[in-house]
Amino acid sequence: MAEKRDYYEVLGVSRDATDEEIKKAYRKKAIQYHPDKNPGDKAAEEKFKEAAEAYDVLSNKDKRAKYDQFGHAGLDGQAGPDFSGGFGNLNDILRDLFGGGFGGFGGFGGFGGDDSQRQGGQRVYKGRDIRVRVRLTLEEIAKGTEKDIQIERNVPCPDCNGKGARNSSDIKVCPSCKGTGQIKRVVNSFFGQTVTYSTCQQCNGEGKIVTNPCHTCSGTGLIRKKETVRVRIPAGVEDGMQLTMRGQGHCAKNNGINGDLLIVINEIEHPDIKREGNNLIYTKVISVPEAVMGATVEIPCLDGKYNVKVEPGTQSGSVIRLKGKGLPTVNGYGTGDMYVKFIVWIPKKLSKEEKDIMERLAKSESFRPNPTKEDKSFFDKLRDMF
Ligand SMILES: [Zn+2]
Ligand SMILES: [Zn+2]
Repeated sequence: MAEKRDYYEVLGVSRDATDEEIKKAYRKKAIQYHPDKNPGDKAAEEKFKEAAEAYDVLSNKDKRAKYDQFGHAGLDGQAGPDFSGGFGNLNDILRDLFGGGFGGFGGFGGFGGDDSQRQGGQRVYKGRDIRVRVRLTLEEIAKGTEKDIQIERNVPCPDCNGKGARNSSDIKVCPSCKGTGQIKRVVNSFFGQTVTYSTCQQCNGEGKIVTNPCHTCSGTGLIRKKETVRVRIPAGVEDGMQLTMRGQGHCAKNNGINGDLLIVINEIEHPDIKREGNNLIYTKVISVPEAVMGATVEIPCLDGKYNVKVEPGTQSGSVIRLKGKGLPTVNGYGTGDMYVKFIVWIPKKLSKEEKDIMERLAKSESFRPNPTKEDKSFFDKLRDMF
């Protein structure tokens, strides 16, 4: 097993963090990594365990003092909660952290639903994701870029801090369900006693009712706001790829969990350059004299123009490779190439004089097709491309 990480580092707090700061840090980690939220994700589970252990020690005066003095050795194996009975309900963990009721962060319930979900207690809300398209040129994709994106999202109402009422005295525990959000019904029948739970009608399962709703947000706790988000787009992205900015989507009511901002890449087709994976393909049309006698031609790559040599005797359809002039891979390993395909332009109209020259050339031995073995294999390759 790897060496244990420093508990303060695990929670991301300083050595002189207050109990409240430690609580808050653990709450953040628990929401992020709890197995309820990451089913089947072993890495997240390990992170959750690590955070729970760190919190177990740092939230206990005795253990923290020992840890501060002697490090991990000072705890002599007594660190960390026991997970043999499962990880516990995230809802319960969060409630324990903040003493229940409606102080602190209010009621947290389950996670996972698109809008809200209940897990045994009150409702927790999850903000919806926002999906935006970003159109990028190949030049932008080659270098990576930053884009300012306009979005309109739900944010906590500034007048009531997202609570739906300006004064906390205007938020009351629901009298019907006593704050649980659920109504218990016990039915006695011939087969015995059946207990059923249903969502409380009076509070809509929230466990609390707002008696005097905030005017700004009509009690929803959220307002619509236009915002500009700067998005960093790495080099090498492809059309249809989706980048996720966690927590940058809609905020949720009652300090729930923010949705994500999903950025979908749209590649604007380049007028001259075709993309194939990380390679680029450019077709250069050259003249008959250039193909016959050789020349230097200009090739527009994404990072500028380059002079490229056309060898004397270049066949129409032949391809040269400009190494490293393609696109970088999005994970940063390696770069594609640019392939330049030469097409020889055959004139369609000739002057009398040009015709005379062509007729003379036609009699010349050099102009009679006489492909070598090498040429033949090149023509075969061309044929296979179609
Ligand atoms: Zn109720
Ligand atoms: Zn409000």
